[in-house]
Amino acid sequence: MLDLLNLPGIKPVDLRSDRDSVTIVAETVDGDLPSCPDCGRPLYRHGKRSNVFADTPIEMQPVRLEVVRTRYRCETCRKTIVPELAFLDERRRATKRLVNAIRKRCLSTTFHALAQEIGLAVNTIKNISLDLIAELDKTVRYETPTIMGIDEVSLAGGYRCIITNLATHNVFQVLEYRTQPHLKPFFENLPDRDKVEWVCTDMWRPFKASFGPYLPNAKLVVDKFHVDKMATEALDSERKKYQAELSNDERVKVKKSIRWITSKRPGRLSAAEKEALIVVRANMPTLAEAYDLKESFYRIYDLPDKEAAIRAFFDWRQQLPKKGYELFHRLAKTVDNHFDDIFAYWDCPHRITNAYTEAKNGVAKVSNRMGRGYSYDIIRAKILYADEARKIGSGVLLKSLVKGVPTKGASPSIEYGPHIPTLVSMAEEGKLD
Ligand SMILES: [Zn+2]
Repeated sequence: MLDLLNLPGIKPVDLRSDRDSVTIVAETVDGDLPSCPDCGRPLYRHGKRSNVFADTPIEMQPVRLEVVRTRYRCETCRKTIVPELAFLDERRRATKRLVNAIRKRCLSTTFHALAQEIGLAVNTIKNISLDLIAELDKTVRYETPTIMGIDEVSLAGGYRCIITNLATHNVFQVLEYRTQPHLKPFFENLPDRDKVEWVCTDMWRPFKASFGPYLPNAKLVVDKFHVDKMATEALDSERKKYQAELSNDERVKVKKSIRWITSKRPGRLSAAEKEALIVVRANMPTLAEAYDLKESFYRIYDLPDKEAAIRAFFDWRQQLPKKGYELFHRLAKTVDNHFDDIFAYWDCPHRITNAYTEAKNGVAKVSNRMGRGYSYDIIRAKILYADEARKIGSGVLLKSLVKGVPTKGASPSIEYGPHIPTLVSMAEEGKLD
């Protein structure tokens, strides 16, 4: 029989094919009698043992490999021995080459599809994946970001902490939760901690305490996105107060448009929305005022330098009516509470904020499209170790990026983590399922 197996130490003796799988029976090729590992005396043949292992599919059919091994016995120690075959993974009941094939694909296809194709239990695929993930966690190391983004994204049934490289648009790390017990060890064990120059995040208070002691050169900047969002929400709460009070006539005209008035910048309003804004100005002065407060707040971020921005904020706060507009007052207070970190925006390389928002949206898109039914560990690994996305952004591609990013001496072996736009397209193509 032709040896299609190509596995050392065994030869195929029979082949059975049924509807769902192929079974190959193979026997060990017996050589000289081995000697006893304990006492060194020669062993005697003592029957045979047969075990079934999964092997790589043949012609799209799962393969069962029935390995018949000679069993040996030592007359002195009374010990029986079945010789080990190096190509078998006894724990997984599969050949090592199959386990390797699974490791190559398990993070980029569904466990279920892989289990069916190979004829193994889904749980076995899962266990092989968990072994692989544990290895990757120990061995893969991404370059510490100079500009680090930290945010929360809903993923695998909880809010997870995503750490990104904002200069290269890569995911650097995913933590189970954004809490001190998760963040502190992360910062504590971070290699090249002194390389981090900027940390961009939201206004979550305990955050500074978690990295402060560990990142000696990092400055915090609160992302513009989170500050502007508070202004939008403040306007929106005023809008909701009016929604119910609109007369029937006005409702038809305004109701549809009014929502968009509150969330769009003036330059992007449609004709109908501009008309609705005129109705608002004529009939709802309090709402019109809220609209103007939101817009003038947004314009602070359009200013080119820090001093002008600070002055504009003080002016804005001055104009804020003493009564009502609760959420606008809360916004003013928040800016006061995080003053230095918010106005640090004007000190740092300008692209940070856009990169932050893009990264955040990118990761959110990925998480929305991820396959369901996986545990957090698996989903994290599918993102963090996605091969195709890891290739992008490593080494030489980084010449033209933000100043302060160490591109000199970057060798192709340097990895920055999975590239977020590539992750997004992978997720869209179902490659992260
Ligand atoms: Zn012995």
